[in-house]
Amino acid sequence: MDFWQTDITYLKKVGPQRAQVLKSEANIVTNEDLLLYFPRKYVDKSRIMKLTEVTEEDKFVSLVGKLSKIEEITGKNGKKRLTALFSDGSGVAELVWFQGVSFMKNVLKPNEEVALFGRPTVYGNMVSFSHPELDFLKGEPGEKVLNIMPFYSSTEKLSRFGFDSRGFRVLMKTLLEAGEKHIQETLSEEILTRYKLISRKEALTQLHFPESQDKLFHARRRIIFEEFFLFQLLLAGKRKISKSFNISPPFPKIGENFLRYYNEFIPFQLTNAQKRVLKEIRSDLARPIQMNRLIQGDVGSGKTMVAFLTMLIAKDNGFQSVLMAPTEILAGQHFRKISEYSEKLGLTVAYLVGGQKKSVRNKQLEITADGSADIVIGTHALIEDTVVFHKLGLVVVDEQHKFGVEQRAKLWKKAFPLPHNMVMTATPIPRTLAMTLYGDIDVSIIDELPPGRQPIKTITCYEKKRLEIFGFLRREMQAGRQVYVVYPLVEESEKLDLLAVEKGYELLQNAFPEFRVGIVHGKMPAENKEMEMKRFLKKETQILVSTTVIEVGVDVPNASIMVIENAERFGLSQLHQLRGRVGRGTNQSYCVLMTAHKRSSDARIRLKAMVEHTDGFKISEIDLELRGPGDFLGIRQSGLPQFQLANITQDQEILKIAREAAFDLIEKDPDLSLPENLVLRTELQLYKRKQTGLEGVA
Ligand code: ADP
Ligand code: MG
Repeated sequence: MDFWQTDITYLKKVGPQRAQVLKSEANIVTNEDLLLYFPRKYVDKSRIMKLTEVTEEDKFVSLVGKLSKIEEITGKNGKKRLTALFSDGSGVAELVWFQGVSFMKNVLKPNEEVALFGRPTVYGNMVSFSHPELDFLKGEPGEKVLNIMPFYSSTEKLSRFGFDSRGFRVLMKTLLEAGEKHIQETLSEEILTRYKLISRKEALTQLHFPESQDKLFHARRRIIFEEFFLFQLLLAGKRKISKSFNISPPFPKIGENFLRYYNEFIPFQLTNAQKRVLKEIRSDLARPIQMNRLIQGDVGSGKTMVAFLTMLIAKDNGFQSVLMAPTEILAGQHFRKISEYSEKLGLTVAYLVGGQKKSVRNKQLEITADGSADIVIGTHALIEDTVVFHKLGLVVVDEQHKFGVEQRAKLWKKAFPLPHNMVMTATPIPRTLAMTLYGDIDVSIIDELPPGRQPIKTITCYEKKRLEIFGFLRREMQAGRQVYVVYPLVEESEKLDLLAVEKGYELLQNAFPEFRVGIVHGKMPAENKEMEMKRFLKKETQILVSTTVIEVGVDVPNASIMVIENAERFGLSQLHQLRGRVGRGTNQSYCVLMTAHKRSSDARIRLKAMVEHTDGFKISEIDLELRGPGDFLGIRQSGLPQFQLANITQDQEILKIAREAAFDLIEKDPDLSLPENLVLRTELQLYKRKQTGLEGVA
């Protein structure tokens, strides 16, 4: 049995009972799990401050000293608190706990040496800490005094069984003594040299018992590299497979329709970004391998035209195209626009959505199946069994995050050979995340808006300024503009939220008797929604009250103000999407974020980001930092592995080189059969087994 895969029970000084606790509390089952249980932080003795040096400016300090006068005090209101004095020889600080009083009282011992971490408050000469973090420094007799002391996560139960930080240090020592000789190098000499990485053995030892900050830095770098590298090897493997098996018809020809439209009819000059992306698409399509490309472009960056031109390439090579959108409103809009473009060339466009009249639907099904439609546009209705395509060669999906992977796959199944695939999204995935996650998807970015767009002005506004805002809306509407007012709606409080929308609708009708107000929300029948949208588009209504159903893609150029009610309740990417509904015409546009005084600190950061930034990529990066990758991607795509040390936003540089190294290696040695890669191959197999449930990864 491999030492590292051996159950932790058999490690010296552990035994069945303690092993059980390690398992239930820290998920440590094998020796390897223990080895990879890295310290949660380190205290560098050379960076410990003296109390007398602490000032108000210090956000966070580490101190070492002793406790005294540990007292439980009952306040006037009957609430208990725990206070203690902390002295480090240079001065005395006051510590206080309002929560967990009885637990802390048992933990704290006078005169024991502790390391303290916390945010100081300074009143005159007195420094105080509320809820500081404490770690007990008492060393095992004979334990080497480390300059950089590792601290491990522990729980109450783990501590009771001896696994506080000190207990873990002792255990790690035992583990490394027994296991050091079994630590195998996973990376080839070539990779180690090329990327200046230290050996695995050295890295793992230094992570648990660092000798210096510099060695710790290199140890972390090596292990983070390895974490990224293994995952990237999986992606690279998938890519290799899809490039050799996913055969699609090549579209080498740039023909009559494309050229005529491009030279005679495009109503504007393409931006350089649009041209660049189109070039990337053309080179994909020229090959007999399935194109799988994600087009990321901020709202208004002109993705539709890129899609249309791509469809013309399909047509010129004898193939039909389909465009699927997540809502009827959006599908309808695409249909109108693309029909208008297509008319110039005499091409036919079919339209398939739910709830069409039978006769209409049958006609659309017919022209789709017999190939008289060159382009088919619709919603999920396109996936139904009754829909049969004719030489389908290109699938374009708009706003991909609303569709599951399965739905896309269903559409592909309606064509043989595999159609080329293009996904358009206005919710940019930060580069780091795209790099982490995507193997066989290529990413194109339209990072330029058409010229002449004025940046949208964004402000936050409290309730008490509502009248002022209404005055502003009135002046804008008198000048002919239109206004969106959006209310939040979440499933958990759906009824209340719907009520709020309806109330808002009444409020606006009363406030603006001289204007007409429309309303759309998700619970309305589709044809009513469609009708309300049309009335707004035709300027029959000046204000449109809605829930987030308008979030995606709607294009009403005359609408220039977006008012978002309870803006603190929206996520950042949603706010950005909503704001993108205005600023589509030539008028100066505004986004007003109505907000309560009470907001969480995250909400404050979100609103601030909206006021300060208009670039979707910047916003998506802030969003990623706020929410973390798992949440950011949502459940549907949570194909993200659990990294122990690596952090995809903070360790971008390492991610980049690990990806490069992995894709390189798979190119040279696809099944890792060269002798220098054999250890890695075994490691990868183990890793694969651990990473179950990664099927959602593109
Ligand atoms: P999105 O990328 O959000 O889907 P659209 O494709 O709806 O954006 O384009 C937004 C608007 O910009 C449309 O009215 C479109 O006609 C216009 N547009 C697209 N490309 C250009 C361009 N290169 N120059 C000027 N206007 C453009
Ligand atoms: Mg669009």
